[in-house]
Amino acid sequence: MADPTNSELAAILDELGDLYELDGAIVHRVVAYRNAAKAVREAPVSVARLVRDGRVTELPGIGATLEEKLATYLATGAVPALERLRTAHPAGVVAMTKLPGIGPRRARRLHDELGIDTLDALRAACESGRVRGLAGFGERAEARILAGLDAEDERPRSVRVTLPAALDVAERIVAGLRREPAVARAEIAGSARRGVDAVKDVDVVVASEDPGAVVAAFAALDVIAATEASGDGGARGLAHTGLPVDLRIVAPEAFGNLLQHLTGSKEHNVRLREMAVRRGLHVSEHGILDDATGETTLCADEPEVYARLGLAYVPAELREDRGELDAGFAAPALVELADLRGDLHCHTVASDGRGTIEEMAVAARELGREYLAITDHSASHGFGNEVSPEALVRHMAAVRAADERVEGIRLLAGSEVNILPDGSLDYDDDLLAQLDWVVASVHSSLRMESEPMTARLLRAVRHPLVDAIGHPTGRLIGRRRPSAVDVEALIDAAAQTGTFLEINGAPDRRDLDDVHARSAAARGVRLVIVSDAHRPATLVNQRWAVLSARRAWLGPADVANTLGWEALEPARPRHRVG
Ligand SMILES: [Zn+2]
Ligand SMILES: [Zn+2]
Repeated sequence: MADPTNSELAAILDELGDLYELDGAIVHRVVAYRNAAKAVREAPVSVARLVRDGRVTELPGIGATLEEKLATYLATGAVPALERLRTAHPAGVVAMTKLPGIGPRRARRLHDELGIDTLDALRAACESGRVRGLAGFGERAEARILAGLDAEDERPRSVRVTLPAALDVAERIVAGLRREPAVARAEIAGSARRGVDAVKDVDVVVASEDPGAVVAAFAALDVIAATEASGDGGARGLAHTGLPVDLRIVAPEAFGNLLQHLTGSKEHNVRLREMAVRRGLHVSEHGILDDATGETTLCADEPEVYARLGLAYVPAELREDRGELDAGFAAPALVELADLRGDLHCHTVASDGRGTIEEMAVAARELGREYLAITDHSASHGFGNEVSPEALVRHMAAVRAADERVEGIRLLAGSEVNILPDGSLDYDDDLLAQLDWVVASVHSSLRMESEPMTARLLRAVRHPLVDAIGHPTGRLIGRRRPSAVDVEALIDAAAQTGTFLEINGAPDRRDLDDVHARSAAARGVRLVIVSDAHRPATLVNQRWAVLSARRAWLGPADVANTLGWEALEPARPRHRVG
């Protein structure tokens, strides 16, 4: 029997967590299973092999108990505890616990008192008004459940993964292949190279005279679970994370042609071919054929492809047919991670972060940042760990004290303030005025209609003490649609007030996205590129926002935190009032 994949093992742990929760287990145990599932799902190597080698406890959150369950599953194909819990709790009841407003306790009651055991049965019960009759539910709860069921139906069910997860796999593959003597060059191609939000597979292009050796080396990489359809042209593989990988192999003299072809986008390449045809040239992955002479030009490097067509080189992130092939195009100097001098959004243990002020400061300093705004969640965050006004005063003092202690980086006392449904903020102006940096974000009532949602955000933009709007649309890539806010109206207002708009670098946010960020910059709005880190290790997430900014054609001058704090501080909107 083939080894189970990491996602299969993770699904078992997730299901155990769900079922233990429904079974009334202590929170600690449930969280342990969920954390373990995440560690298994994200492990770049075969977890089944780690179990057999007795090394699985090296993964974060996997101890002896979970090791034993995984070993039992490998040996027998089943976990006794799972079988027992499945019998006790129907799958539909587990699904109900995922709906907003229904926890395990309520799901159990819906099952025990109304006999509901599927989502369809739940919808029918709500529509016929039977749920409102249950003590503690009522009409509002019923309406909320129906809205939750509707949202569940709309949820995108794509198999795409976010860019960081894909690049983690792709970069390991390329690094592994580059160590092989048979590999002259290896590069990531496809949409991952262009820095898109989410990808469905990864493309890798290798230059080599010895394809057989390359395919063998590819199959032996520890990130690759299985390969198929291999030949001299390459192979198709599956990473342990479940991501499909296309390996293509080409002779070194045509490496540029294949890399350009496989990087795409489709729209860019279609346009490129049309332009070439007008010059009597035919572009393909195999070279550039001159119709008049019958000669084919092979390009070892990508820039030669563009040069042969009489075009300026186009950086990969710009290849979307959004003007990069127009007459007169010259590649702009795009912003780079190294241009960023500070980070203006992160959390500590004071709200829902995992690091202390000092730990965050030291990690940011190691990344070369000159300043870091500590922006813990405000009073009404609603997910626990909120910072009351009194606590904020103490927190500001703590940030300023840490700033004295930690050398080599400037700490700014900030807050991520909630924009309430009416557009007001949940701290008083007196308090906000004492902060160095105020980012205002929407974290509740995300599904408001367009008009009130836009009014809500415009009120925050116009608040003189708001420096930046955090993750302006609230989207979660692959999981939650953007809110109905009219982003163009938001941009117009920010252009008037001088309020900065975020490109939030959390891997599943990247909000604003590339299209809106470009529109903002074109109207003179300056963006801030932030990590929204919740622990020291995720301060590197600014990288993903930089990729969005590059896809938005932004240069260093479009991004406010390429400035030192001395220059940025007087540029904050509060100084433009009056
Ligand atoms: Zn936030
Ligand atoms: Zn945040």
